[in-house]
This record gives sequence, structure tokens and C-alpha cells, in this order.
Amino acid sequence: MKKVEGEIREIKDETHDVKTFRLKPEGSIDFTPGQYCLVSIAESEEHKGVRKPFTYASSPTKGYVELTIKKIGEFTTALHDLSVGDRLVLDGPRGESLNFDEDVKEDVVFLAGGSGITPFISAIRYAIDKELENHMTLIFSNRTKDDIIYKKELENVNKRSGFKVVNTLTDEWPKDWEGETGLLDEEMVERHVDSLDEKLWYICGPPPMIDAMEDLLLGKDVPEERLRYENWMIPGKGD
Ligand SMILES: Cc1cc2nc3c(=O)[nH]c(=O)nc-3n(C[C@H](O)[C@H](O)[C@H](O)COP(=O)(O)OP(=O)(O)OC[C@H]3O[C@@H](n4cnc5c(N)ncnc54)[C@H](O)[C@@H]3O)c2cc1C
Repeated sequence: MKKVEGEIREIKDETHDVKTFRLKPEGSIDFTPGQYCLVSIAESEEHKGVRKPFTYASSPTKGYVELTIKKIGEFTTALHDLSVGDRLVLDGPRGESLNFDEDVKEDVVFLAGGSGITPFISAIRYAIDKELENHMTLIFSNRTKDDIIYKKELENVNKRSGFKVVNTLTDEWPKDWEGETGLLDEEMVERHVDSLDEKLWYICGPPPMIDAMEDLLLGKDVPEERLRYENWMIPGKGD
């Protein structure tokens, strides 16, 4: 694990409250999809000593690093106020609960809530770059259509053979919405995934979603060792 500084080269608005920052790191970052780093703002007096966890959203096959960040409180607001040319310090890579790499041979299912998509977009981008043979299903839950991060990219992923992307909207949806609606539940999962016990399951989202999915999958005889999840709301996690 090491600290690597990187200059922000590009900032992309993903949704009304989510931005992606593309950085050119000064040095290599040898991360695995699913891992995260502790981010601080270089040379910031106001946020000196503040470091918060964010997942590498890009694929390690690229020469840049992307972080996709939802504006939630003080630090993420400060990050959203940064400009191209500003610098971040990334301390990592950290974490292993959501790691995916080419040693994983099973077909996988990613269950993501909101910004919990970041570890899985890294894995999907990596799998495409490496032409891996795993089948990948993503079920992505958001409040509204406007909250869907990487919407266009995921539509294209869904068209690729071996990939399936299912969106569900929980709060409101347009009249012509063709995806799922409502919270993820047993019927929805079974509509899109067969042989549940043969898949490797990755879950990232708010705690109630993780708990509900864990109960559901264990109840369907998915062995516990096939469940991988990360709870981003655990206080102090990543410190
Ligand atoms: C391992 C790990 C990886 C993460 N990766 C990403 C990522 O790739 N992209 C991303 O946008 N975020 C990610 N997060 C969450 C991110 O770290 C927090 O959103 C961030 O630390 C909030 O800092 P803040 O100072 O802006 O808000 P705070 O002042 O810390 O929080 C403001 C308010 O938001 C609530 N809150 C804090 N975090 C969350 C959350 N995750 N979900 C819902 N409410 C929250 C707090 O309870 C508080 O009420 C990750 C978290 C972990 C643990």
C-alpha cells in the first residue's frame, strides 16, 4: 500500500450529484477491481488530514485512474468543487471483500445500490478489456432514472454477449420505463438469474439492501462463501 499523488485531468458530470474524476497518477497503482483507496486533497489547508474511502472505478488495464463520487457531505462537496489541474492523494489499494480478477472463473452477479456501482463498473470494464469468459449480470437499483450512474455505458454493456444489465427504480419512473420497478426482491432476482447457487454474488449498497439480499440468497441455498459484500456505512471503515 502506498500514497500516490495524481492530477485531475478530466471531470465528468454523471448525474445531478455524481461526478467522475479522471487522474493521471504519478506512479503505478496496482489495484484489483473492487478495491478502494483513501483520498485526500493535496495541499489543502481546510481539509488537511481528512481522508475518505473511494473505490477505483476505472479498470486497472488503463493508464489513468477514475473515481466516481457522490456528493453527500462536507468532504465530497469539497471534491466536487475541485477543478482540472487540482491534485489528489490516493492511499491504497485497500480492501478485498469485492475483489474481482481473472482468477475468478464463475459467472457473477453484481447487486448494486446507487454509488455502490463503482466497484462493479471497474470489474465490468476490466472483464471487457481482458475478454474474460465469465457471464456477468448487474442488477442496479436507484431511486429515479436521473440517479442512474453510467447510464449510456451500461446500455452498451447490456448489448454485449455475456453481459446483462437490469435497472430497477424504487421511487418514481417514467410512463415508458421498460426496466424493473421497486426494491430488489426474490421474484426480481429469479426473473433475471437462474441457478442462483452456482453464481458468485457481489453486493454493494446501503445496509438494508445488503441484509435483505444476504437473507434472500442464503434462503435460496446459495453457499455463504459465494457471497461477497461491502457495507459502505460501517462507521470508521477504511480509517
Ligand atoms: C470502502 C468504501 C468505498 C467507497 N467508495 C465510494 C465511491 O466509489 N464513491 C462514492 O461516492 N462513495 C464511496 N464511498 C462512500 C464515501 O466514502 C462517503 O460518501 C464519504 O466518505 C462521505 O464523506 P462526506 O464528508 O462528504 O460526508 P459525511 O459528512 O461523512 O456524511 C454526510 C452524511 O451522509 C451520510 N453518509 C456518509 N456516507 C454515506 C454513504 N456511503 N451512503 C449514504 N449516506 C452516507 C452520513 O451518515 C451523514 O449523514 C465508499 C465508502 C467505503 C467505506
